[in-house]
Amino acid sequence: MKERLIFLGPPGVGKGTQAALLCSRSKFLHLSTGELLRAEVNSQTLLGLKAAALMNKGELVSDDLVLSIVEKQLSFCTGGWLLDGFPRNVSQARALEELLLKLHKPIDAVLSIELDDEILIERMLLRGRTDDTEEIIRYRLEVYRQKTQPLINYYSDLGVLSAIKGEGSVKEVSNSIFETLSSSM
Ligand code: AMP
Repeated sequence: MKERLIFLGPPGVGKGTQAALLCSRSKFLHLSTGELLRAEVNSQTLLGLKAAALMNKGELVSDDLVLSIVEKQLSFCTGGWLLDGFPRNVSQARALEELLLKLHKPIDAVLSIELDDEILIERMLLRGRTDDTEEIIRYRLEVYRQKTQPLINYYSDLGVLSAIKGEGSVKEVSNSIFETLSSSM
């Protein structure tokens, strides 16, 4: 079983739900940069105050800010981990590669979960987060297509990418994730 993983996919595709399921089943560290940033915002830390305005607009926060969070968490993690919502652009992916080289812990697999925009928008409107108004959702999808989607080619070129269909029930998607991770890829 692969144990150092990245989930890629547009907002609303179910990454967070699937990541939480897999991590509780496999005892991996679930590292969601969005969740960690929301915790900083709620605690009104300096980092949270810097991030809040950008997050509410659907913009990405600065690479340095996110990298500091990820580096701290991965440096102390001795078991498996799953990155959910990171990396979000090519420069974050390069920085991650450098960090993992230093830690001698290469990525085992990157799963790209895909779904049509209209279904994504419907799902996110139901979720009702403060950054989930229709206008901001459409903007976040645009940011995803522009900045994050290039990572699909990036990881495909490295030979670690598998595509997962995001349609169907939570169980169906989690089964297909589990099968992919158990196979030799
Ligand atoms: P998420 O919960 O992954 O949808 O993230 C919510 C928001 O947090 C995003 O819209 C960004 O503003 C910010 N965020 C989360 N992860 C990152 C990241 N890796 N790089 C930059 N911004 C991020």
